[in-house]
Amino acid sequence: MLHFRFLADFLGFKQAFLAIALLGVAVIGGCGQSAMSKRQAPTANFSGTPPIRVIATVGMVADMVQAVGGEHVRVEQMMSAGVDPHLYKPTRDDVRLVMKADVVVSSGLHLEGKLSETLEKLARTKPVYSIADGLPPELLIRDGDSQEAVDPHIWMDISLWGQGASALAEWLADFDPTHAGDYRRNATEYVDQLEQLHRFATETIHTIPESQRYFVTSHDAFRYFGRAYQLEVVGVQGFSTESEAGLRRVNAIVNLLVERQIRSVFFESSVASRSLQAIVEGASARGRQIEIAGPLYSDAMGEAGTYEGTYIGMMDHNITTVARALGASPPPQNFHDYLDAAKQKLAQINERQP
Ligand SMILES: [Zn+2]
Repeated sequence: MLHFRFLADFLGFKQAFLAIALLGVAVIGGCGQSAMSKRQAPTANFSGTPPIRVIATVGMVADMVQAVGGEHVRVEQMMSAGVDPHLYKPTRDDVRLVMKADVVVSSGLHLEGKLSETLEKLARTKPVYSIADGLPPELLIRDGDSQEAVDPHIWMDISLWGQGASALAEWLADFDPTHAGDYRRNATEYVDQLEQLHRFATETIHTIPESQRYFVTSHDAFRYFGRAYQLEVVGVQGFSTESEAGLRRVNAIVNLLVERQIRSVFFESSVASRSLQAIVEGASARGRQIEIAGPLYSDAMGEAGTYEGTYIGMMDHNITTVARALGASPPPQNFHDYLDAAKQKLAQINERQP
C-alpha cells in the first residue's frame, strides 16, 4: 500500500481511494496489449531417474507444481504452514534438499526475501524456475521501477495464478518433453478449477454491499485480491501508534470505518494485530463496534492435510471469511456448495430439454 500511504498523506483518504481506483483501472486496462513474460526455457533437459524431484519454496507453489506435474514429479515443500516467507532463512536440511533436487521452484519477486540470492546463485548450476517469471509483467502491481518495488503476492488473484500454472506447464514441457502432453493436460484441468474459483470469488465479493467493500487488514498481501475482486484494500502494518504520523493514520482509518459503518477488520495468521486493536478501540470510543475477523491466509496456507492446506481451500476460506464479515447477503456458501448448485442447475436445464 505504498501508493496509498503516500497518496493518503497528500490527498486525504477519499481522494486517495479514488486515485487508487483509477490506477487499478489503468492496470486492468493494460492487459492484453503485450503478454510477453520473461520466462526462460530451461538450459538443459531432464536426464535423471524419474520422477523429477522438485523443491517448492512455499505451499501455494508446491500445490501448483503437484497439480501440473502429476505423477511425473515428487514435490517437497520448504516452508510449512504459518511460516513467513519474507523472513525465512534456509536451514541446513533445506540446503541438503536443494542440492539433491532436480528443480527448484519459487514464487519469485523477492517474496522469498532471504532466499532470493541463494536461488539466483543456484540457477547457475541447477534449473530454478519462478512462477512470477511466467506472468505478463504489465499485470504485476508495482510501486516504482526497481525489482524490489513489485508486489510479490501474485497468488491472491486466482486467475493470474492460473496463468502461472499454464506457463509452468510449458516450462516443464521444455524440461521433460517426453511428458509434455501430460503437463499441458494437467494444467488445463487445474486452470479450469481455478477459473471456477475465480468466478466464485467475483460473484461472492459482489454480494457485499458496495458501501462496505473496504478491506482493512494488517499487512499488504491483498492488493492483487483487491484489484481482482474489486475491494478497496487498506493495509495498516508499519503504522506505529507511538508516532504522531501513526496516530494520524489510525485516526484516518477509524474515521473511514465510522463514516462507512464498516463492521469488520481482518487479521492474518502470521502477523501481529496490535495496530488493528488500536483501530478497534478508536472506533469503539466513537460508538462503533468493530469485529476483528479472521484469520486470513496470506503468505502461507493452512496446516498440511486440511482443506485450508490446499491453494483452493485457502482462497475459498479467505473469500468466504471476507464476504461474511463484510455483510454479504445472502451469506456466501463455500466453493464446493457453489459448484454443487451450478451442477444442479445444469442438470435441471438438461432435464427440461427433450
Ligand atoms: Zn507478504
